[in-house]
Amino acid sequence: MALPLARIFSKPCRQISRSWGACQAGWRSMSTRSAPDVTSDQAGGVPFPPLQTYSEEESIMREAVKKYAQERIAPLVPKMDESSTMDEDMIKSLFEQGLMGIEIDPQYGGTGSSFFTSILVIEELAKVDPSVAVLCDIQNTLINTLFAKLGTPEQKEKYLNRLSTDMIGSFCLSEAGSGSDAFSLKTRAEKQKDYYVINGSKMWISNAENAGVFLVMANADPNAGYRGITCFIVDRDTEGLEICKKENKLGLRASSTCPLNFDNVKVPEKNILGQLGHGYKYAIGMLNEGRIGIGAQMLGLAQGCYDNTIPYARQRVQFGKRIFDFQGMQHQIAHVGTQIEAARLLTYNATRLKEAGRPFIKEACMAKYFASEVATLTTSKCIEWMGGVGFTKDYPIEKYYRDCKVGTIYEGTTNIQLSTIAKFIDKEYDQ
Ligand SMILES: Cc1cc2nc3c(=O)[nH]c(=O)nc-3n(C[C@H](O)[C@H](O)[C@H](O)COP(=O)(O)OP(=O)(O)OC[C@H]3O[C@@H](n4cnc5c(N)ncnc54)[C@H](O)[C@@H]3O)c2cc1C
Repeated sequence: MALPLARIFSKPCRQISRSWGACQAGWRSMSTRSAPDVTSDQAGGVPFPPLQTYSEEESIMREAVKKYAQERIAPLVPKMDESSTMDEDMIKSLFEQGLMGIEIDPQYGGTGSSFFTSILVIEELAKVDPSVAVLCDIQNTLINTLFAKLGTPEQKEKYLNRLSTDMIGSFCLSEAGSGSDAFSLKTRAEKQKDYYVINGSKMWISNAENAGVFLVMANADPNAGYRGITCFIVDRDTEGLEICKKENKLGLRASSTCPLNFDNVKVPEKNILGQLGHGYKYAIGMLNEGRIGIGAQMLGLAQGCYDNTIPYARQRVQFGKRIFDFQGMQHQIAHVGTQIEAARLLTYNATRLKEAGRPFIKEACMAKYFASEVATLTTSKCIEWMGGVGFTKDYPIEKYYRDCKVGTIYEGTTNIQLSTIAKFIDKEYDQ
């Protein structure tokens, strides 16, 4: 089995025999670096390295997660899909490997790595199972980041330690009546003394079946419109919170997606995350980052599906030659391979821009939009290239085909991404 990432990362530190404390500090400063650690020589004598240049840490992480996913997750995938459940021991192993707290500071038990590393992890996991990838994605790109950026010292102490070691978090924005139009949400939080009472319901909440904490967007001041939306921390065992029966979905079946009901749920005022009335800002900000994560999930899914198909095309013989050798097949295979590569470059570029503190919203939307479309194309083509067997459950291709569809829907539909991209383009031509 692969080594836990925290241990892998601590290795070089031990080899140069520094104290553990110094090691962790060194590791942290190394892992917050946004640019890959390459010299112009390594990059082929040019000062700007290609996008697919990884720091040593990123390369180690990529290889370690690839091995872990193959050894630990792959054998469980058909059963988890069939039974629509996430294997509990596998979830535990994600925590043990340090994959649920990738960017969380080691002070809170996290791996202390970077956003780019999270993206590489999501991509690698999605190659094997997009359901596991979305579990890891939401935890790392939405939940942990919100706590790390906005939490009070007490909230960080209480939740980050658990999120990096044994607790899953869910992000609760969508409702039956408000999906794309998210800020017309109807869930209310009414102030009483030093607590709030939440009433309403949420739809489509990922990972709710296994979550220990829910970040809930509720309006605490409806007269202020969307400026009343506030982010509340709601523990799973809070009275009045009901996690309802999960949806019976086309794909991503191992990832639970549940409606939630809030019936007079009492939440102490100290459970507000960030500032009162700023929930809409936090949701927009987080989803901008989260979209890069979904881009990585769709990219990994497409690559995983392709990797499972090309060897078949290279071995299957019809009319006395490999089906790969027909020009009609080669052109399609080359086209899809190019699309996957373009999706990777868009996703990595958005990630590096975000890490460099530069504007990235348009690029994040492009990455999410494009990678979702590429995943749809790739999985459909792969089934065709496999012929009849691609249509059966004897091969993993049909699952990728089912799993990819959600990429064009969640964290902003394709139309919503295109509208945002168009707004940026419109502005760019303002003179
Ligand atoms: C598997 C799954 C997991 C999810 N997980 C979560 C989660 O963890 N937390 C959470 O809060 N939500 C979650 N969601 C909800 C998801 O974000 C919404 O489904 C999504 O935002 C779309 O909302 P909707 O389903 O209401 O569709 P609608 O908003 O009703 O959209 C329907 C169609 O209308 C189009 N449309 C809508 N408005 C416009 C417009 N202005 N211009 C052009 N076209 C438009 C859309 O593009 C779409 O094609 C999840 C959804 C799914 C399916």
